Amino acid sequence: MVILIALCTNGFDFKAYGHSKEKPSEVNDDKQRIRLYEAISLKTGIEWQRIAAIDQYERTLSRAHPKTRPIRDNAIAGVYVSENDWVGRLNPEIADTNPASIQFFHGVGKDGSGDGIADRNKDEDLLYAVTTQVLKYGSAGDDFSIGLWEYYHNTRAVQRVLQFAKLYDHFNRLDLSGHAFPLPLKSTYSFRSTWGNSRGWGGKRIHEGTDIFAGHGVPVRSTCYGVIEIKGWNAFGGWRIGIRDLNSLYHYYAHLSGFDKKLKAGDIVRPGQTIGWVGSSGYGKPGTQGKFPPHLHYGVYRDRGLVEWAFDPYPLLRRWEREERKSLRVSH
Ligand SMILES: [Zn+2]
Repeated sequence: MVILIALCTNGFDFKAYGHSKEKPSEVNDDKQRIRLYEAISLKTGIEWQRIAAIDQYERTLSRAHPKTRPIRDNAIAGVYVSENDWVGRLNPEIADTNPASIQFFHGVGKDGSGDGIADRNKDEDLLYAVTTQVLKYGSAGDDFSIGLWEYYHNTRAVQRVLQFAKLYDHFNRLDLSGHAFPLPLKSTYSFRSTWGNSRGWGGKRIHEGTDIFAGHGVPVRSTCYGVIEIKGWNAFGGWRIGIRDLNSLYHYYAHLSGFDKKLKAGDIVRPGQTIGWVGSSGYGKPGTQGKFPPHLHYGVYRDRGLVEWAFDPYPLLRRWEREERKSLRVSH
């Protein structure tokens, strides 16, 4: 039922699971990105998945903070390094591109392309510079985490990069952008925009999510490629599960009647994979249910580096529903 767009470049499994075809420009971007990661991988000796994970984490930060982390229009890498950090804080030459003097002033800047110039406007140099900073403590298990911590000083950053690397590693491809509607389209369900509604069944003062009403036991499916971050009981959410995707979005599914027993925190899921079933759990001690009609509470939170913000998932849900309906028609 799912359309697979196969495209092999340089030995990478490059399939795009999608309910809509990728735009040619996106496919081209991915090809360029893979080439960049391969080049940095050759130079540093670490696998492309971890380089891609660092780059993708940087990209999510740059997208969340476009004013303080401006990225060149045609940039392939998502990495941002400030001028001062690039040349070194005490470097009098703010536009320094000499790798030796930059190193002398403890700047991050490096020459990754091999032309002898540490150019802050060049993808190879930027990504190579950040990757070598992260690899300062080594590349084996914990050393990589320590390097991430030393570079970002943020536990979320460490967690994200490791999650992203795990995802790239598991699927062995870059494009993991496909989505699915959280309930099977053939099931009976209804939902409307309830953002900010104070009377939602969400357990928060302002309703941060969309309630999708459906019968008890209807399968709940992952909407994205992601890593399970949390699974268990929450006083308001009941049996709930939280999944992190490659855009640093946290997908939250609450009031479930149960989970897929095989799934645990740290596991990887794909769009359309059943993670649990619709229920009415929550608003009390573990196991409490039936205090409201069965429904799936679906919320999405964006990790902006230090804080996490909810945004209205309603337009996304409508889009995924539409795209999936379209792809089902095409593949029949
Ligand atoms: Zn709700």
